[in-house]
Amino acid sequence: MLKPVSVKENISLAGFSVFRIGGPARYFAEAATKEEVLRLLAWASEASLPVFVLGAGSNVLISDSGFSGLVLKMDLFHCVVEGERIIADAGVSMPQLVNSALRNGLRGMEWAIGIPGTVGGSVRGNAGCFGGEMKDLVQEIVAIDTTTGAERTLNNAQCCFGYRHSYFKERPSLLILRAVFGLSRGESEEGYALVRAHSQRRIAEQDVGQRCAGCMFKNVPWSRRDIDKQKLLAHIPALRAFSGNAHIPAAFLIDALGLKGFRIGNVAVSQKHANYIINLGKGSAEQAIMLLGVVKERVHRTYQILLEEEVQLVGFD
Ligand SMILES: Cc1cc2nc3c(=O)[nH]c(=O)nc-3n(C[C@H](O)[C@H](O)[C@H](O)COP(=O)(O)OP(=O)(O)OC[C@H]3O[C@@H](n4cnc5c(N)ncnc54)[C@H](O)[C@@H]3O)c2cc1C
Repeated sequence: MLKPVSVKENISLAGFSVFRIGGPARYFAEAATKEEVLRLLAWASEASLPVFVLGAGSNVLISDSGFSGLVLKMDLFHCVVEGERIIADAGVSMPQLVNSALRNGLRGMEWAIGIPGTVGGSVRGNAGCFGGEMKDLVQEIVAIDTTTGAERTLNNAQCCFGYRHSYFKERPSLLILRAVFGLSRGESEEGYALVRAHSQRRIAEQDVGQRCAGCMFKNVPWSRRDIDKQKLLAHIPALRAFSGNAHIPAAFLIDALGLKGFRIGNVAVSQKHANYIINLGKGSAEQAIMLLGVVKERVHRTYQILLEEEVQLVGFD
């Protein structure tokens, strides 16, 4: 099979990640239709190339040596409202989805306004904030198995959503094509007011507009098997502030160690939000990985808690 004309070679991935870090993709293509997605997958399969599906690149740390297979960017942007449901292609951005909902008098998605990702990436990671999560809205996902090209439809239960988790993380061969969301009718003006409030809070507390990948580490569920809640609360009384919550914020643990501003080369722990790492300009993946390692080691040494990356590492194997 001939290489599809849309496939480019040796394309730098830094410009496709919000972190602005990453080496080249050996092959890179943007797919705007399902047919193009299938054509590209068939070609990659025949050429025995690994495939990495890219959304808005807001949750990835791409290695300095890039990705040795095909990076398939999901540029499918169709979004329709049918009654109280929205059917959105994987490439639709979360703010666009929120706007479509509110324009059509649908509520329940306002929390997602500041998530700089796509539907595909956000479903896969069960993105969430301000008390909302993708799992609360997803009715159905249409996915393609990248190894066979077969289409599958999954209902909410089959997506196995959990905290920053879904079935799609367990089965990386599944590419999300589109999602169906269920919302409820409501007052749009109230929705827009909520959007403004969430946006203001995000600007005040997080590194909006910076080169970063959002939260680098998952918050730590108290229910995790290796967490001894009573022992931790006795050891670190300040954690009592979160004892009624489901999670210990990773940012709290990092901040308590005085790591805000800690820097390796051109990447640094944010001064504003300790769970963000910022590329100060010309930062490298190597520096970011070293910084993640230092943070993890310090947190583990002090609290005996192993932080788990929320950011997706790409091209490091
Ligand atoms: C400033 C900032 C704030 C953020 N705030 C939040 C927040 O409040 N809450 C939150 O949860 N996250 C937050 N994030 C992280 C990020 O925006 C989300 O995780 C988002 O859902 C990622 O979507 P994406 O399209 O950018 O995915 P990408 O970064 O492109 O990809 C992430 C992963 O999803 C996979 N993927 C992407 N598209 C598909 C698809 N169609 N099918 C299958 N797999 C796919 C990729 O292969 C990769 O493994 C923030 C990030 C930044 C930079």
